Order: sequence, then structure tokens, then C-alpha cells
Amino acid sequence: MLHPLITSLSRLVLDGASLTEEQGLLLAGLDSEHTTELLFAANTITRAMGHRPFTCSITSAKSGTCSQDCTFCAQSGHYDTGSPTHPLLPLEELIERGLSMQKAGAKCYSLVTSGLRLSSAEIDRICHCAVELKSRTSLELSASLGLLSDDYADRLTRAGLTRYHHNLETARSHFPSICTTHDYDEDIGTIRLARKHGLRICSGGILGLGETWAQRVELASTLAGLSVDTVPLNFLCPIPGTPLQDSPLLSPHDALKSVALFRFMLPRASITIAGGRERVLGDYQSWLPLAGANGMMIGNYLTTQGRNLDADLRMLEQGRWI
Ligand code: SF4
Repeated sequence: MLHPLITSLSRLVLDGASLTEEQGLLLAGLDSEHTTELLFAANTITRAMGHRPFTCSITSAKSGTCSQDCTFCAQSGHYDTGSPTHPLLPLEELIERGLSMQKAGAKCYSLVTSGLRLSSAEIDRICHCAVELKSRTSLELSASLGLLSDDYADRLTRAGLTRYHHNLETARSHFPSICTTHDYDEDIGTIRLARKHGLRICSGGILGLGETWAQRVELASTLAGLSVDTVPLNFLCPIPGTPLQDSPLLSPHDALKSVALFRFMLPRASITIAGGRERVLGDYQSWLPLAGANGMMIGNYLTTQGRNLDADLRMLEQGRWI
């Protein structure tokens, strides 16, 4: 039998209501003996909302030397991480990578660049790539290019981009401990701008940055308020050389419980699991669909290696509904 709180709140969600932050906090406060019940209910919500398995691939189109000081990031120019750096890749290579990701089974291809924002010439190259891939593949085209302007959003949309990725990373109340070089509201502004231009929004964060359970619920609530379409969740793998290099890994229990909380708070959004799942979850990765995730980032991530692509696809197909 499910805990009465899980029963009543999942009924509310299934009836179409949105949970308040206070209700999310009540779920977060449940004792760990009720976690499997929470996962079971999260899986029920995923099925009831009709979420289908979703695979997304990213490529690091431009890497490193970022002006921002995000304390978790291998690409920040503020820390000596030894992470590879390169300028924006040539057009032919960006296109080639998209073609090979389609062949590997990805449905969505996202070009990701380091830095606060791109130059106008760099946006042009991304647009050329989008035009080319749109004519040669059935990939949904996405990008994560930092802060947008009206002009950039307009050019990207006209080139065929349909989705924009911009993580909030963590809760507003925790953000000043994570980044001091730009403001949380600039990130929110970019999400709103992308939405205004008709782009679907992919925005989530990283768990394990020293945030509290209340701050995880706060982030989920902010994303719900922005009506994001997809929530990518990463688990911190501490990078040597960054201020968070000695942070403890999340336990599999906390990682799975967090995913379930996001599913309760964002029932209509796709929840995609990205970086850190291999290290944090190990053998428990196959529990992710049970916890409410319906998508996986496949292939390799930006500065860490992903696991075998075929294994990921198999897990999504077989472990979908337990
Ligand atoms: S997360 Fe993005 S903005 Fe922050 S340091 Fe890394 S590349 Fe720069």
C-alpha cells in the first residue's frame, strides 16, 4: 500500500493539478522507507501522461575558456581543469556529427557551446548547420548557445531550430554559491525569449551541487512555472580543479528520489537524464524509467564519456514500464 500522502498527491497530479512547492516539500520529506512507493507513483504518472521514450544527443561544438565561473564546470576559464578546449567547429564537422547521430538512433541533435553568448558570426555557422541538417535528416534540431538576443532567436528559428536548451543549473536561492558572473534572471530571460520565438524549451539542472532537498523542489517549481517542455537532469561528477572537486557523489537513493520528485512537480514535461548517471547510479541506471524519467541523453556528453549507445537504447526500450 502506498503512503497516504503519495496516494493523495499523485491523484491530484493525475487529475491535472500542479503541485505547490509546499506539497513537493512534503514528498521530499518522506522517510526513505517510502522511496520505492514514490518511484512507483512517479512511474504511474509518466505512463498516464503518455510520455514516450526520448533520446537526445549533444555535441560539444565549442569547448572551454568560458568567461563564467560556474563552480562545477570543466569548461570555465576560471579553473585549471585540463579539459580540452576548441573554438567553434568547422561547419562540415558540425554537419557530419549530426548525420552520424541520426544513424546511431538519436531523435534530437543539440549543438552545445561554452561561453556566455556567441558572436554573430558564430550564430551564422550554427544557422548554416541547421539549414543543412534540416534538409538531410529527420532530426529535431536543438542548440544550447548561452544567452540569446531577439535577433539571435529569430535567426535560429528561421534556420530550422525547433528547440532551445538553457539550464538553470540549480535553485535561485543556491545560484549565488554556484555562479557569480551572471544573474539568474538572465537565464530566465533567455528561456522566455526562446519561448516567445516559438522554440520548445529544454531546461533543467545539475543535482549534487550542495543544494538542499528544499532547493531541489524550488528548482522543479521554477521550471514548472516556466512550463518547460523537457527537463534534462544531470548528477554532479566532481571535476578536479573546480571548487566542487571534493563534493560527495549523490547516492543512488537520492538521485532516484530526486528524479521522482521532478516527475511529480513536472508531470507534463519530458524528463531526460544526462551526465553523471553512470557514475552516480551504476547498476541502478535501469531504475530511471521507474523513477519517472522517459528520456536519455545518448552517446558522449560534453566533457565526460557516456556509456555504450546500444546499451542505452536497450534500457529505454526494455525498462520503460516496470
Ligand atoms: S556551465 Fe556554461 S556558462 Fe557556466 S562555466 Fe560552464 S560553459 Fe560557462
